[in-house]
Amino acid sequence: MGGWIAELWDYVTVWVGLIMCNVDDCDWPELYREKHVLARKKHRCTECKGNILPKEPYKYVFGKWNGSVSVFKICLHCQVPQKWLEVECGGYLFGELYSEILEHAQEYRKMFLYRWCVEMKQRKNAAQAVG
Ligand SMILES: [Zn+2]
Ligand SMILES: [Zn+2]
Repeated sequence: MGGWIAELWDYVTVWVGLIMCNVDDCDWPELYREKHVLARKKHRCTECKGNILPKEPYKYVFGKWNGSVSVFKICLHCQVPQKWLEVECGGYLFGELYSEILEHAQEYRKMFLYRWCVEMKQRKNAAQAVG
């Protein structure tokens, strides 16, 4: 992809949710793209550290913050709490999903938020058990 399409794409995608509750702490990306893909090999989810197995769908995120490029891979399960944060709080930070959800669980006292934390831990443990 190049030329005006790439520029338009950047323009559209750069605004996709990366704010959090604590907006002051948030770095806006200079470049942001996300796409939904099928895993061709085994990956590790950025958020839960669980396995993304071949043929499983996941979200591939490419972004540039303060001049450095980061890539995140988000498993299907973690996309749900991410979406929740996006709707509830206007965005989320990558790599902080577990602590963010835990914080909100303590604040909101909602069972489903605690359950998400437990499930993230379980996926991490399962991935470590297999190696
Ligand atoms: Zn995950
Ligand atoms: Zn919030």
